[in-house]
Amino acid sequence: MSFDSLVITAHPDDAEAQMGGTLAKLAGRGQAILVVDLTEGEPAELEPRGTRARQAAEAARILGVQRLTLSHPDRLLVDDVATRIEVAGLIREHRPHTVYAIGEACVHPDHIAAASIVRAATFLARLSKWEEVPGGETLASTEPWAVSRLFFPHCKMETPWSSFAFAIDVSDTYERKRAALATYTSIFAKADRLLALYEAEDQYFGRMLGVSYAEIFRSASPVLLDDPAVILPGVHA
Ligand SMILES: [Zn+2]
Repeated sequence: MSFDSLVITAHPDDAEAQMGGTLAKLAGRGQAILVVDLTEGEPAELEPRGTRARQAAEAARILGVQRLTLSHPDRLLVDDVATRIEVAGLIREHRPHTVYAIGEACVHPDHIAAASIVRAATFLARLSKWEEVPGGETLASTEPWAVSRLFFPHCKMETPWSSFAFAIDVSDTYERKRAALATYTSIFAKADRLLALYEAEDQYFGRMLGVSYAEIFRSASPVLLDDPAVILPGVHA
């Protein structure tokens, strides 16, 4: 099956925290979105093994996206050749226009590894002649695929960015982001301080942009527009 977008992250809850409002918005407009978690996020701090998977499925249902959770080791995810090839294979199989990935080195080592894996895989996915590359033969069974855009939502474990390429107004879908994150009682306690900080960040950028809530993104290459009129009005023009 092909998808408009792939969101490739380290753990179930990363996509929701980083861009849950955007996912609900795009899915509501008919886009097919696949969230790929590289690890199962187990063991989770607060609840038994298996709980987080059920919560991740429920969060995906709330946002209107599909989810694929791989079984690389949580806490010990590493950027290696096999994982680059595996993720490149997923990109070639699903042929997305856009890939969203963790973009910056972050305090969590799994996020650092995920950032590196996805950047490499996006590049490798567009190359041919894999039958001639030892270790890369599995890619030879799929056609090369060049992703049009590689975007990076802000990872909430980093301090807020002072600059970004663009932001999405998620005011109308924020309640669904809140609901999706609230499913993860295996990692967030009730009235968790982290969730309050996440929301404060989205509200801060909303205030900057003249809306209630906004999610911010960086881009692997400069953003190119066909028509400036698609840009929403600014606070002071
Ligand atoms: Zn994470």
